[in-house]
Amino acid sequence: MTDCDQCGLCCLNYSGTSWARTTDLLRWHDLGRKDILKFVSMVDLEGKRVTGDRLSREELGRIERINGWIDPVTGRELSPCPFLSAEPDGRYRCTIHPVKPETCRRFQHEDWAIFVAYRDIFREYREIDG
Ligand code: SF4
Repeated sequence: MTDCDQCGLCCLNYSGTSWARTTDLLRWHDLGRKDILKFVSMVDLEGKRVTGDRLSREELGRIERINGWIDPVTGRELSPCPFLSAEPDGRYRCTIHPVKPETCRRFQHEDWAIFVAYRDIFREYREIDG
């Protein structure tokens, strides 16, 4: 496992669906973390799109299709992750680190050397874009 140096690249460019698992939803529910659940959108058993903070534990346990992170007001996918904080020292911090999704917890790029090379190019672009 490689140590994270908080470059932020993974969380600035996270994408895709179904990265939050049912176990995450239930954990956040049990912790009373509606502030997290409201950024997760899903289709309930009647086919209606709802945010996770509006469902009971039993309902959350039956959800299979999960999208996130979603703006609870506009319904649009948010990128970068709304829980990512840019720190004054240039690093990035996950503001929900102790309870973040299992996918984030386990994330490890399969080829660290390629990831670092890509990251350097990405940083150069960011500096050019300002
Ligand atoms: S929840 Fe935390 S670790 Fe996961 S994408 Fe957001 S900022 Fe990154």
